[in-house]
Amino acid sequence: MAEQSSECLFCKIVYGVIPAKRVFEDELSLAFADINPQAPTHLLIIPKEHLTSLAHAAKDHAALLGHLVFVATELARSYGLEKGYRVVVNTGDDGGQTVQHLHAHLLGGRAMKWPPG
Ligand code: C5P
Repeated sequence: MAEQSSECLFCKIVYGVIPAKRVFEDELSLAFADINPQAPTHLLIIPKEHLTSLAHAAKDHAALLGHLVFVATELARSYGLEKGYRVVVNTGDDGGQTVQHLHAHLLGGRAMKWPPG
């Protein structure tokens, strides 16, 4: 079983303590619909292991980080986002991270603006 933090919201989603609309799951990762979607498709891809943020990643996490991005890619394909999409990992206070468990946002289904706010 992946390491978890008992106070972490997303660890609670991993273990089914808090409900979420789960759309994909494998040994290392879970993807679910964002509760407050910012685009027609807005999914979160998280590691099952508790990892606070990208800023807390160690070299040992490199394969896991690659896996999360690949899962986002596969989900983008299966959701038909052939016109494009955005994968975002908000990190730390200045990065706008509000949940302290690493997550990649997959946003698609509308044209995105740049730069983000
Ligand atoms: O990158 P950031 O930390 O701000 O993103 C957290 C995301 O988690 C938000 O988009 C929020 O809507 C989502 N969320 C969720 N389910 C919860 C709590 C937060 O999908 N129960």
